Parts: sequence; structure tokens; C-alpha cells
Amino acid sequence: MTETLRVTPDDAGPDADSYAELRARLFIPLGVAGVRASMGVFEDVIDGVNRLVTSLRPLGAEVMRFPPVLPRAMLEKSGYLRSFPHQLGCLCSLGGSEREIGLQVERFYAGEADWTDGLETGDLVLSPAACLPVYPLVAARGEVPETGLRFDVSGACFRREPSQEFGRLQSFRQREFVFVGAKEGAAAFRDEVLQLGQSMADALDLPHRVVSASDPFFGRASRVLALLQKQKTLKYELQVPLAGEDTWMACLSANYHEDHYGQTWDIRVDTGEVAHSACLGLGIDRLAIAAFIRHGAEPATWPASVRTRLGL
Ligand code: 5GP
Ligand code: ZN
Repeated sequence: MTETLRVTPDDAGPDADSYAELRARLFIPLGVAGVRASMGVFEDVIDGVNRLVTSLRPLGAEVMRFPPVLPRAMLEKSGYLRSFPHQLGCLCSLGGSEREIGLQVERFYAGEADWTDGLETGDLVLSPAACLPVYPLVAARGEVPETGLRFDVSGACFRREPSQEFGRLQSFRQREFVFVGAKEGAAAFRDEVLQLGQSMADALDLPHRVVSASDPFFGRASRVLALLQKQKTLKYELQVPLAGEDTWMACLSANYHEDHYGQTWDIRVDTGEVAHSACLGLGIDRLAIAAFIRHGAEPATWPASVRTRLGL
């Protein structure tokens, strides 16, 4: 019931000591782990990172910007529900007539009942990854040319992983380069965009490593799925070092989905084969955080080459 909103310092994590001062310069905690407001100095760098990403956009990529919500049915069909149900957020709103909604709210303020008792599940979920809407949109257009289609998409993402880690947010921004087309094209695109990712890290002068990685699948099959993903090298992450022993933060991932989305959404290449797809998922907040960790709290003092690439 009624609880005073208490905003606590966002500094209880294991890396708190190393970054407490920087965090305080960049963010304002909102009282829930992994949810923060950011200061202008951080947003200026976010804009710069987006400019850098745009400058490296694959030739011919179609630009789309998505809202922070997705149709629930789209998410269910995409397979995300089966693989990551533990990270999902679904939108609910108060149902019933105006009178019933009014009563629910008044009973809450009178301390008689929780207003959330009146919630009804809606037809929207919070988007967990920026590329998910691309595949059904491509499917709706019909056959894909053999040379493939390329996209530059972005959106706010939500993943239910409350954490005090500097770079782990429940609500964060992703930009993605996506390919849908023939098998060879998708595999080649994945390798190409991984190199683009490394160029971005170089432009930001970030020390980094590239490792074969897996997603945090849910449930009993998770270990097998993760192992398979690693064995097939379907996912690579570009990681930057954090303070402390052997702690790394993934700033981007280059993923080859094989024909998962092609099968799911019945996407065909004009040769008749089922489409394959690949994406580069860029963690825009993490790239900016990594730049601050590397170069300090004041972008005016950053190396001239980095400032130039960011257009600062
Ligand atoms: P992936 O699809 O590989 O999980 O995510 C792509 C990129 O999004 C990651 O490499 C990372 O940079 C960013 N990302 C994923 N989860 C989080 C998160 O919890 N917080 C933030 N800030 N970025 C995330
Ligand atoms: Zn993606």
C-alpha cells in the first residue's frame, strides 16, 4: 500500500567504490535498481555515440525507429517468450468501467486495497531487443531479394534484471544493424558488422576483447542451448574491462540467427530458400559509459580524435 518513495544512492554494487564518483556525475538514481535518470553531459555523449554509429551504417540500410513497446502476440511468436520469460515485462492497465476504476483508485488512497488488484493484462509488452519487429515487417513485404535487406533500427529496451552494476540497466537503449536474406549473406554480414563494432571501439579508444558468447536462456534446456550457441559461434560480444578482477562489460554483440526468424515468420528469399538473418546489437548506454570510464568524467578533456569521431 502507500509507501514513501525513497530514493537511495545507486552505489551498493561491488564496483561501487571504483565508479561512485563518476556515477554521481552522470546519473540520478530513481530508487529502483538499474533505472536511472541521466545528466546532460551523459546525453551529449549518447548523441555522439549515435553519430558515430550512423557514420558506420551499412550501405543501403533502411532506417526505422521503434517505440518502447511491442505487440504481445509478436513477442510470443518471435520465440523470445520461450527463451527469456524471466526477463520480460508486460504492460497492464486498470480495467473495467470508469466507476470501477475510480473505486479501485479511491480504495487505494483510503488504504483499503491495492490499486494493482484491478490490473488487466494488455496487448503490449516492453520491447526486450530492438531488432524483433524487423522480421515480421520484412515478412509482410513478401520475398526478399537474394542480395538481402539491411536495416538500421533502434529503440528503448527493457529486461527485468535489477542490478547495481554500473552498466546493467533494466531500461536501456539499443541500436541495431540487421540483415535478412540468403544464408551466405547473413553469415558474411555478421562478420562484417563485428568488424564495424571493433571500429567503433577503436574510434572511442576503448581497450577491448572479442569473445564467443551465449545468451542467458531460461530453464532446464538453458545449458544445452547456450553450449550449442557457443559451439556454432552464433554470438560474439565485444567486451571492455571494468575495474576489479576479470570483470568485463559487453558493449555490443554480433549475432547470426541462422534461419530462426526466417522459419518463424515464413520469410523467403526470391531463390525460394528460407531467409537467414543476422544483427549487430549495440548497447548505446554501455558504449557511452565505457567512454566515460576510459577517458574521465569531463568530455572536454577527452582525446581530440575521440571528440572528433563523436562530433563533440
Ligand atoms: P544482447 O542482445 O547481446 O543481449 O544485447 C546487445 C547489447 O545490448 C549488449 O551487448 C549490451 O551492450 C546491451 N545490453 C544488454 N543488456 C543490457 C543491460 O542490462 N543494460 C545495458 N545498459 N545494456 C545492455
Ligand atoms: Zn538483434
